[in-house]
Amino acid sequence: MTPPLRKILHADCDCFYAAVEMRDDPALREIPLAIGASAERRGVIATCNYPAREYGIHSAMPTARALRLCPHLTLLSGDFDRYREVSAQIQAIFHELTPLVEPLSLDEAFLDVSAVSRFSGSATWMARWLKEECLSRTGITLSVGAAPTKFLAKIASDWEKPDGLTVISPDRVDDFLLRLPVNKLHGVGPATSARLDALGIATCEQLRTLSLDDLITEFGKFGQRLFELARGIDNRDVRVERERKSISVETTFAHNLPDIDSCRPALLPLCERLEERLARHGYPPVSGIVIKVRFDDFTLTTLESQGLAPSQESYDRLLEQAWARAKRPVRLIGVGARLLPEAKRRQLTLPLQ
Ligand SMILES: [Mg+2]
Repeated sequence: MTPPLRKILHADCDCFYAAVEMRDDPALREIPLAIGASAERRGVIATCNYPAREYGIHSAMPTARALRLCPHLTLLSGDFDRYREVSAQIQAIFHELTPLVEPLSLDEAFLDVSAVSRFSGSATWMARWLKEECLSRTGITLSVGAAPTKFLAKIASDWEKPDGLTVISPDRVDDFLLRLPVNKLHGVGPATSARLDALGIATCEQLRTLSLDDLITEFGKFGQRLFELARGIDNRDVRVERERKSISVETTFAHNLPDIDSCRPALLPLCERLEERLARHGYPPVSGIVIKVRFDDFTLTTLESQGLAPSQESYDRLLEQAWARAKRPVRLIGVGARLLPEAKRRQLTLPLQ
């Protein structure tokens, strides 16, 4: 039985926070510009414009490093109230097209347009309309990808950034996938990528030569996912109105970390990525922090602390307690922030650091 064909759009603003700043102050357009917390606060870059990217700066990079790469970088701490306002305008445009909108952050969303009859049902024309409306009403450019699945729509929106429009129609899915590098697949991070590389697998065409059995032996449960993604299968629905309860990032290590001392240095890059994710969500109020550790025997332990703000020091303390529960080599560490429920946000907020 073939499932009904879906039309999914992934819409993503181009360097959103920087774009809002450049819109409001044209003097910033041609110079390297980044939004992020200061180096003194051990901040990371949340967004930067294209002139800054030419210096090798990218989001989640420590601000101190960005300033070494480009000493004349214009660094702004960011006006998140203003970004949230523009975000609300853009999300409203999405909702004019379909009620099936799943926001991923302030500047990014999936839209399920399978049932939309406007534009003769053409996803390409819908994507064009979104781009035009967004630009004319907010002055911000969008990149949009259209595809039959979420993971392909997301890859497509990134394909011709900035101001991109990439459509992967159902008949082009196979062609597109065969040449696709495996590290573009949803969930394939550096560790999986390195192991695939060691197996001589660089593209989805090569990935398809591995049997489901092989993949499960090599990657556990994720092996099944790899098997499906390489064939364009991704049945995740666009999920509407889900209140985000936490924001987290995690890393599976290419080699297990033997002890607590070797785990500690891994926290810094994780905390930097978490900080960038929090920034992408406009710094929602945080009610506590959580750490997750998976040991070499695949047992998982999580530890939560209410009332702590996300900082490397807090995670360090939690990590030590979590590790002490098993005292085994570690294959994965995750750090997260628990978000204050929307209903409580007006009553209490914690400072971020
Ligand atoms: Mg974006």
